[in-house]
Amino acid sequence: MITVEQKHLLINNEWRPSSSGQTMEVINPATEEIIAAVAAADGRDVDAAVAAARAAFDGPWGTMSARERGRLVRKLADRLLERADDVSRLETLHNGKPISESRNIEIPAAAECFEYYAGWADKVMGETIPVKGNHLTYTLREPIGVVAAIVPWNFPLLLAAWKVAPALACGNTVILKPASQTPLTALALGEIAVEIGLPPGVLNVITGPGSRVGQALVEHSGIDKIAFTGDTSTGKSIMRSAADTLKRITLELGGKSPNIVLADADVEAAIRGATIGIFYGKGEVCAAGSRLLVDRSIKNEFIDKLATRARKMVPGDPLDPKTRFGAIASRKQLDTVLRYIESGRNEGASLVAGGQRADIGTGKGYFVQPTVFADVTPEMTIAREEIFGPVLAAIEFADLDEAISRANDSQYGLAAGVWTRDIKKAHYVARKLQAGTVWVNTYNVYDTAAPFGGYKQSGFGREMSAHALDHYTQVKSVWVDLNL
Ligand code: NAD
Repeated sequence: MITVEQKHLLINNEWRPSSSGQTMEVINPATEEIIAAVAAADGRDVDAAVAAARAAFDGPWGTMSARERGRLVRKLADRLLERADDVSRLETLHNGKPISESRNIEIPAAAECFEYYAGWADKVMGETIPVKGNHLTYTLREPIGVVAAIVPWNFPLLLAAWKVAPALACGNTVILKPASQTPLTALALGEIAVEIGLPPGVLNVITGPGSRVGQALVEHSGIDKIAFTGDTSTGKSIMRSAADTLKRITLELGGKSPNIVLADADVEAAIRGATIGIFYGKGEVCAAGSRLLVDRSIKNEFIDKLATRARKMVPGDPLDPKTRFGAIASRKQLDTVLRYIESGRNEGASLVAGGQRADIGTGKGYFVQPTVFADVTPEMTIAREEIFGPVLAAIEFADLDEAISRANDSQYGLAAGVWTRDIKKAHYVARKLQAGTVWVNTYNVYDTAAPFGGYKQSGFGREMSAHALDHYTQVKSVWVDLNL
């Protein structure tokens, strides 16, 4: 049994139990063991966090020079990298993702996000505007105020960094609420904030059930903006609740992203891309290429090879550096994934790889085999709904028009991929796809400098890149009469 100390809330740089004294257990999905107990906050704790964040905004953080602010955000990046081993381990323990993903990719990417926005802190500028009459007219880009960042369990620290880093760099203060299943790395970020000397109240971390703490944040009149990543239905409920206080909101929601393989594609590369597209992060990836659209003329060969590859991906102990496929993040999500596999079978799709719960030899853990369904038709449930797990639905198409119309036949529009050697077709398809990100001859690549976000019901607003700065600032026009 791994013991992790009882974790409190971080409010005003002080670690406090929840007002109710209640706690929540955190489970390691690879072993089913309890690895921590975190505070279960309620509205009183939210009030305290808002008061601390507001005081910091009106006080030391609001008056600090942008460059100094940037230096502190940079220190978050540096300290996170220094602590990358222990933070990655926590990410793997509470989420079940392979340590190779958390240590080599995601925690360094979170640090890079802080580094990137640290550089922006003193480069967020207004403009002078040539207006009519004798005026000096200029704009100021000011922070919005207190931001609540609400994040899901699939990339707990990385998705927090996508919000916290630009929010702080622009001069806002933040209340971070991690998902109930994966609160440990958000709390580690809180520790890091205290260690590097972020002033009290600038970053607060509140744990607790989304329906109580998340909802209290969304309704609170002292919060100016909600930055949310999570399920589309939760996003809709947040949008409704935020209307009463007219909060700014940005929503990064679900997806059912198409990965299109044209007949002229480099087949080996496309198979690698399709595999990474659906099986990275156990498929618990909002942009997962969960709908594989393959040209009818190459379908059989392609699916055979892909299924062979999927069968070779064996789930293993997430803490083993050699493991490439970990545990599903929770019992609830395991049940959801198995239910969708059942529905694929019942609705007549052909199961060509996986399809079963897996055992890594311990008799414990929420493991499932990488699963591929062929002969999927567009109206099947597994072709329409986000499964958020390692289940690929392969659908054929007859020509380019059908590929594009099938790809766009979804309520979602987060990401898409296209595999072709024809440069004209690549750009043509990229323009036609209704998605916030299109990958050509690659999949699942990200960089802090490139924007990410949804079309359609995958949400609105962009994270990362200079575009995110717009969502954490507001523009003030200042008019000065120059008539003597
Ligand atoms: P979720 O919506 O259940 O929870 C997300 C967060 O919202 C958690 O912190 C949760 O506690 C909180 N929450 C729950 N109810 C709330 C409420 N009423 N008010 C305020 N907060 C509330 O989502 P999840 O199951 O944790 O995450 C999976 C979903 O996230 C998937 O749909 C996935 O596609 C999506 N996702 C999207 C992106 C993206 O960038 N578009 C990235 C990752 C995950």
